[in-house]
Amino acid sequence: MTDKTDNVQKELERLRSLISDYNYQYYVLDDPSVPDSEYDRLYRELHALESKHPELITEDSPTQRVGAKPDSGFEEVIHELPMLSLDNAMDSDEMVNFNRRVNDRLAQSKDIEYVCEPKLDGLAISLLYENGILTRAATRGDGSQGENITLNAKTIRSIPLKLRINNPPERIEVRGEVFMLKRSFEALNEEAKATESKVFANPRNAAAGSLRQLDPQITAKRNLSFYAYSMGLVSDDFKLADKHYDRLLQIKDLGLPVSNEVKVVSGIEECLDYYRDILERRDALEYEIDGVVNKVNDIALQERLGFVARAPRWAIAHKFPAQEEVTQLLGVDFQV
Ligand code: NAD
Repeated sequence: MTDKTDNVQKELERLRSLISDYNYQYYVLDDPSVPDSEYDRLYRELHALESKHPELITEDSPTQRVGAKPDSGFEEVIHELPMLSLDNAMDSDEMVNFNRRVNDRLAQSKDIEYVCEPKLDGLAISLLYENGILTRAATRGDGSQGENITLNAKTIRSIPLKLRINNPPERIEVRGEVFMLKRSFEALNEEAKATESKVFANPRNAAAGSLRQLDPQITAKRNLSFYAYSMGLVSDDFKLADKHYDRLLQIKDLGLPVSNEVKVVSGIEECLDYYRDILERRDALEYEIDGVVNKVNDIALQERLGFVARAPRWAIAHKFPAQEEVTQLLGVDFQV
């Protein structure tokens, strides 16, 4: 090994170990020790270094995996269809590049239809309905293995215990985000301060900490919310729509809530317009969002695009800048 490779190797190990520690604090303890912007910076540094030296990528690198292993306090759930993460775009140039890659891979130059959705800042869960009845709820965990949090999910009022259709399919898995409204988060932290108990860093950590309680009675008191954003495994007796947006309408018809900010757009410029619009309205929303998720609408095209290690090629999260950078981006008129 040359001195140079040795140095690269050392730097890779340093970044991996730091990021693994941050992952553990964030996903398992629900108690991050650094801001997301710092985490994202280190993650991108690791990713860039690995891209330059692909021969040094290890299977256990945080760039090859989603989240972190679940906590041992819960029964484990294996996701038959993995629950992946999303690639991130930090600015509009990266969005333009994403769109170009999609066009190139599909060998077409016409505008792609995308579904724009708010990127809810909570945690991903899977809800399994068998013959119309909610039989299992699980966290994403590390993507292939999550935690069984059925009793806790049942305390969330917007999650139906029974689907609202007459002939429910044998099996249908709906995925979405559990999150905490800003006002519930503030009330929870007020109460925590008054009783000198743990104050949560942000609504995301409060939602995760509340959902992953071993005592469902605590979860029940926390006022969690839920929005669905995709289907997982579905049995053949349910005819799935062939556009992502239409699948969201199907989910709504089953009785599950879907954000009414979701919109179909055509081409990259309309994705960027959607992003700017919702970024301006960010503070007025009842819940925190940390960006916009853009998904190719046509499922046949999604299938042609496929996946890379930890994320689909047909979707991207266009992240909002860290809060302190927002004013610069939108100009002086914007109040933060
Ligand atoms: P992610 O949050 O970047 O994106 C994937 C997740 O987005 C999904 O799992 C789902 O929960 C969520 N999501 C919200 N709305 C969605 C929608 N409409 N459609 C699909 N998914 C939607 O990825 P991640 O792997 O969950 O987390 C990585 C991020 O977490 C990092 O970029 C960082 O900001 C943060 N993090 C911070 C620390 C820290 O120490 N501060 C540690 C680990 C992770």
